[in-house]
Amino acid sequence: MREVTVVGAGPAGLVAAMTLARAGWRPVVYEKNPQVGGRFAGDFQGLENWSTREDVMSWLANLGLVVNFDAGPFSEVSFYGPDGRVRRFESERPMFYLVRRGDVPGSLDRGLLAQALEAGVEIRFGSALKEVRGPAIIATGPRYGDGICVGYTFATDLPDQAHCILSDRLAPLGYSYLLIRKGHGTLVSCQFARLKEWKRHLEHTVEAFRRLVPKLDLKGARFFSGYGNVFVPPRLVHGERLYVGEAAGLQDALWGFGLRYALASGYLAAKSLIAGVDYEALVRKFLLGRLRVGMENRALLELSHALLGERIYGWLLDRVTSRPDPMAYLRKHHAPLLWKRLLWPVTRLGMRFRSHYRDARCFHPDCGCVWCACGRSAETCAG
Ligand SMILES: Cc1cc2nc3c(=O)[nH]c(=O)nc-3n(C[C@H](O)[C@H](O)[C@H](O)COP(=O)(O)OP(=O)(O)OC[C@H]3O[C@@H](n4cnc5c(N)ncnc54)[C@H](O)[C@@H]3O)c2cc1C
Repeated sequence: MREVTVVGAGPAGLVAAMTLARAGWRPVVYEKNPQVGGRFAGDFQGLENWSTREDVMSWLANLGLVVNFDAGPFSEVSFYGPDGRVRRFESERPMFYLVRRGDVPGSLDRGLLAQALEAGVEIRFGSALKEVRGPAIIATGPRYGDGICVGYTFATDLPDQAHCILSDRLAPLGYSYLLIRKGHGTLVSCQFARLKEWKRHLEHTVEAFRRLVPKLDLKGARFFSGYGNVFVPPRLVHGERLYVGEAAGLQDALWGFGLRYALASGYLAAKSLIAGVDYEALVRKFLLGRLRVGMENRALLELSHALLGERIYGWLLDRVTSRPDPMAYLRKHHAPLLWKRLLWPVTRLGMRFRSHYRDARCFHPDCGCVWCACGRSAETCAG
């Protein structure tokens, strides 16, 4: 029975571990927090349903996952631009499924944990690994904040609903959202620029949603925050270590929908070990094209914002919501397109100028740092 160390019990690490255990391997997961979902506060996240023709629920089944967590389909979302005008998004198939994150009943994290334990995975909670030797999957999540999310979770009597605002006053180059399902609410400002002013943006977000939803009660509101990291991974394999999820920079650069990248890369890493095939080749085949499109889309958004200012948000929302099939339109723009591929060299260069988009791993064969934050080059890292 082959032993593998998995560092991090987030979605990427847990899927990798359960896939290995089901194939007869012995994965041991180390998680620095005393429970799963320690980065999250019971807040809602969306399992996006637009990037593949296949519904995300059957996509999960193809990864061997059972939906033993609460997943609420949302086919109607109210979008608003900086002008405050509402644009309704309505589609036949759900735009996303809302899942809760953190160590709360019905959460995605608890669901994945149950499936991992059932597969026979050993999990060592409260164990922060700094170094690792031998075969390992590194699933430690983001290192830097390319974008931050700040907001509140709360209880509410309001019916299920979803709202999203694109406005620099509330969330520069990002978006603010209000999600309510089954008496739980999440209100967030997700910011990609002017991060130091996050408090003011959050205040504006609360004010804006109070205006839009006058009965918004925010009962027992609890503050939470988080961040996301995306970069072009030069390599995903470092000696015997395979990097997955956000630890590998695998994240949606446009809006931060990283869950599917985490689940898919965890699965692919495990499959590569089981079948003895090249993990990087699998990621190139199944994930890299979309990762680049996310970066190209963000570069296009930021470029058009620099030229047109906030007007770009209303234009974008009108374009998506006026389509007869908005989901097909979204899917098209999340798939690799030839003209966007031509933008890739420029996008890549632009990313390099942002220090946090750089991958600082040294790739020294003997370096054991889990995050490889030694900051030295392969030539100077002592290993
Ligand atoms: C507020 C917020 C909202 C989001 N909303 C969405 C959304 O709506 N849809 C979507 O698709 N994505 C969303 N995302 C992104 C999504 O949460 C992440 O992309 C996803 O969780 C990444 O999974 P992961 O397994 O790679 O990392 P993580 O979920 O970060 O898990 C990493 C785990 O590793 C552990 N760890 C770290 N270092 C060590 C160590 N040295 N030793 C042991 N354990 C360690 C951590 O404690 C953590 O449990 C959101 C992110 C945030 C912050």
